[in-house]
Amino acid sequence: MALALQRISRAELKTINARLEAGTPQDTLNWVDETFGSEAAQMSSFGLEDQALYHMYWTINPNARLMTLDTLRLPTETYSLFDQTKLRYGVEVEFFYPDMSAVTDMVKERGNNLFYRGVENRKLCCGIRKVEPLGRALSGLHAWITGLRRDQGMDRGSIDIVEWDEAHGNHKVNPLANWSFEQVRDFVDANEIPYNELHDQGYPSLGCAPCTRAVEPGEDIRAGRWWWESDPNAKECGIHTVAPAKR
Ligand code: SF4
Repeated sequence: MALALQRISRAELKTINARLEAGTPQDTLNWVDETFGSEAAQMSSFGLEDQALYHMYWTINPNARLMTLDTLRLPTETYSLFDQTKLRYGVEVEFFYPDMSAVTDMVKERGNNLFYRGVENRKLCCGIRKVEPLGRALSGLHAWITGLRRDQGMDRGSIDIVEWDEAHGNHKVNPLANWSFEQVRDFVDANEIPYNELHDQGYPSLGCAPCTRAVEPGEDIRAGRWWWESDPNAKECGIHTVAPAKR
């Protein structure tokens, strides 16, 4: 039987974050595993950060849970990486898919590539293919682990390592919050961790195939996401945009 969720108080979170900031991502994952056990899972996009993170998490707990959202519009290379990761770690990836009746209605009314025709359409597609399945995935968890880093910009600059996620009613853990992209890349190389081959073709940030392009040297790392939109601060799909409550 699942245990009732124990919300960590603001005072406790402050102490925990102070300790974890001085430690390593592995310290954070150890804490997650000891505190939440199988009521925690990593929600992965299978980007470079997430691949590094799952390697650490699996090293601590070979049964560490790994979830992902399959929007049904991902690049072929990402589907190949799903298979490589399952083979490498022997993990049963928990896939969450969009509600097909919602996809069918959306495509019927607005077309398959609606997202190129306005932010409203793009947010509708992300809502159906990502945000709703994420809510379903997280509904039974006490904590979810992400690969967010502070220097990815936008709202991410102020994330804590452990936060209360008001939108999902659970704890959100960002073990790589204070890591740089170079640290992630070095860790992946040193441990020969499988990664998406698109990273070697100029894609620092990966998402759905029709909404992601390679970036030029010196461009912002998220410039390739929804590149046709003009607002650089709107480069989020809605799954990380709700500010956590800082209690
Ligand atoms: S990234 Fe593009 S294809 Fe994927 S869910 Fe969002 S709008 Fe739809």
